Amino acid sequence: MMEKVTPNVFTSTKIRGCNPSFVTTGDGVVVIDTPQLPTRAVAMRAEAESHGPIRYLVNTEHHVDHIFGNYYFKGAGTVVNHKGLYDNFMTTAPILDPFAYAEEAIPTDDPEGAAIFPDRDVYYRDPNKGKLVFTGDLKIRVGDHTFELLHTPGHTPGQLAVHVPEERVVFTGDTVFSECQTWLMTSDVDEWIKALDRIATLDVDHVIPGHGPVATLKYLDTQRAMLLEWKTAVAVAVAKGWSRQETIDRVKFTERYPVDIGQGYMMEYIQTLNAAALYDKLTGAPGPLTLPDSLPKPVPIA
Ligand SMILES: [Zn+2]
Repeated sequence: MMEKVTPNVFTSTKIRGCNPSFVTTGDGVVVIDTPQLPTRAVAMRAEAESHGPIRYLVNTEHHVDHIFGNYYFKGAGTVVNHKGLYDNFMTTAPILDPFAYAEEAIPTDDPEGAAIFPDRDVYYRDPNKGKLVFTGDLKIRVGDHTFELLHTPGHTPGQLAVHVPEERVVFTGDTVFSECQTWLMTSDVDEWIKALDRIATLDVDHVIPGHGPVATLKYLDTQRAMLLEWKTAVAVAVAKGWSRQETIDRVKFTERYPVDIGQGYMMEYIQTLNAAALYDKLTGAPGPLTLPDSLPKPVPIA
């Protein structure tokens, strides 16, 4: 199931959900994000533990596809979360019900997972969120490996990049969507670009993105361009006096990339909510991001 990136770094870029990963050290394993699908989470835990005990589980962001699988990692090391992540862990917002999104994937993507999918109240009693919660950056030493947890907000407030200098690798979470659609939603695009600039200063060979294939630092330029294209296109729409709905109807980057694995049906939601969120920000609309009438039901975020 896992792809070997370096002798000690393993990731999984071909399943629905984020790219869950782990790093093996001389003193156990560090897991970075967990599979959203239950059977995949159980399988990845077993594979990680075959290399030694799990010492830490670090989440890069609070979106459901990066944290739901924590439920299946109870007792497997200390869960480490930035406070901005911890405070938003599986909380419901006007545009998303993260638990419903996790549940909705089961029949199509993991039917065998139904048997171990918890009831909502059971899940929320202990979703296995952070025990070690911090602000700013945090450095953890495990065996001979260093884990620099860099606060890189933008896509989400509690966003982390995990830099492992000994492996010349950085895990970026959804600060990088590699060759797939970028989900903006409630993100802060300007902060996001600063996050890319910070990651670009690292001396690494491999960028493990939140979604899509493993990349190099060069791909950060492509991600920045995508963010600027979205923002500019909506800024131009606002300057032309287009309405919110007109902007949603006309500003699209559908042809640029596919949606990441298993979520092709979300294309219209991504385009719509990306445009709506930027339109609201650039016009100073008050209150939380709301769904346009053209979208029928609450939707999740990536
Ligand atoms: Zn994601």
